[in-house]
Amino acid sequence: MKGNGEGRPVMPERNIADQLYLLVLKLESTCSIVIGKRGQLYFQAGMYVYVGSAKRNIESRIARHLQQDKKKRWHLDYFRPHAEVLQVFTLPLHNGECALKEFIQQQCIGRAVGNKFGASDCRCDSHLLKIPGKISDTPEKLKEKWLACQGKKLESSAGS
Ligand SMILES: [Zn+2]
Repeated sequence: MKGNGEGRPVMPERNIADQLYLLVLKLESTCSIVIGKRGQLYFQAGMYVYVGSAKRNIESRIARHLQQDKKKRWHLDYFRPHAEVLQVFTLPLHNGECALKEFIQQQCIGRAVGNKFGASDCRCDSHLLKIPGKISDTPEKLKEKWLACQGKKLESSAGS
């Protein structure tokens, strides 16, 4: 099972009722990328997780993220052309997007990068995490851990 070039990422079985998603991306080389109004940011080569949410149509949101050629709307859209999507997970809402970011940060020993990346509407430092390697849990296992995680409910003022 090798992800070569722009090969399709492994798409685990997804539940269309899920409202949260994780994209694991690999940045081949260290570079600086202009992230919309955030300006130029510096990213080290390696593995990243992006934590996002879609209240409806999670399938089409993910499909959009996988697509390269599009108008840039989210911070991820600026990062995406430089990276390869290796894994996609969807998860139930449970404690929300920001709690999921905290959860993944702990699970994967992640480090928030890109100053407020994907986190314009919440209090998080970022929804992009630099992680040491791919997510090794199966989708089922990850979901089980996520639902078992009490965590703190981080309030998101925007409620989006
Ligand atoms: Zn957040």
